[in-house]
Amino acid sequence: MDQPCYQGTQLVAKTDPSAGHRGLTAFIVERDMKGVTTGDIRGKLGVRAGSTGWIAMQDVEVPAENRLGEEGEGFYIAMSCLDNGRYTVAAGATGLIRACLEDSIKYARERKTFGKPIGEHQLIKQKIAYMQQWYDAARLMVLHVGWLKNMGIRNTRETSMAKWFATEHSVKAALEAVQIHGAYGFSDEYDVERYLRNSKGAVIYKGTSEIHQLMQADYALGYRHDRPLRCEMPAYDAAYWQAKAVSA
Ligand SMILES: Cc1cc2nc3c(=O)[nH]c(=O)nc-3n(C[C@H](O)[C@H](O)[C@H](O)COP(=O)(O)OP(=O)(O)OC[C@H]3O[C@@H](n4cnc5c(N)ncnc54)[C@H](O)[C@@H]3O)c2cc1C
Repeated sequence: MDQPCYQGTQLVAKTDPSAGHRGLTAFIVERDMKGVTTGDIRGKLGVRAGSTGWIAMQDVEVPAENRLGEEGEGFYIAMSCLDNGRYTVAAGATGLIRACLEDSIKYARERKTFGKPIGEHQLIKQKIAYMQQWYDAARLMVLHVGWLKNMGIRNTRETSMAKWFATEHSVKAALEAVQIHGAYGFSDEYDVERYLRNSKGAVIYKGTSEIHQLMQADYALGYRHDRPLRCEMPAYDAAYWQAKAVSA
């Protein structure tokens, strides 16, 4: 939960314990409701520009007008949210790989050891080559998901893969970027130490890497099939959004 701009949170609660995933209903729980307590998590490794918090609830009464969708639709609503949130995380992690690559290239061209720029040492070249490969692959996955979304095609598997791949490889890229910067990389004189700290958060939120691995294996093995969402996202309609931009 991101704070402090947060005013309400989406809660999915069991409203019919006997009905499995069809017994879940989504609500907006507001911060100032009686019985709601929130707080900040302090001392985070990274992502310090955005605060992260916890929420506790005790005998909270949520009015029916705060219900999202219909009773029993909570699971489907939560699943739709994940497909969109995970996409933005994948895109952000891809940008982080690019930042690691660009900073590393700049440093590798400037820093000299044994009479030549470190970029001319084969093992540094290897790191740069891998970072370029990770960036290209992550970028293509994110663009592919963007295309699927624009076409209005279901993309849960592809979004999960892009999020898993981009976030895991942003950690790898940040580790290599720190290594290329040597001792400077271990200090806050250069941005790469911040890239490393920030990269780790994204493999935890919006589905940990373990959850994405389970999902991908289940898709591949045929154990998992996407059920229809409550409300499929429509295909991108350029005329509609241009008219909106003009009227805004
Ligand atoms: C920087 C940051 C920002 C966040 N922002 C938000 C936010 O805005 N909104 C929000 O709702 N949450 C947010 N979170 C919380 C995040 O979604 C959870 O931390 C995440 O889902 C993991 O849950 P957990 O911390 O309870 O770990 P746990 O569920 O306790 O998991 C611990 C470990 O066990 C593994 N594990 C758990 N279950 C299984 C399983 N079935 N099979 C295999 N491995 C498993 C996990 O992958 C993990 O490695 C944020 C977290 C961070 C770090």
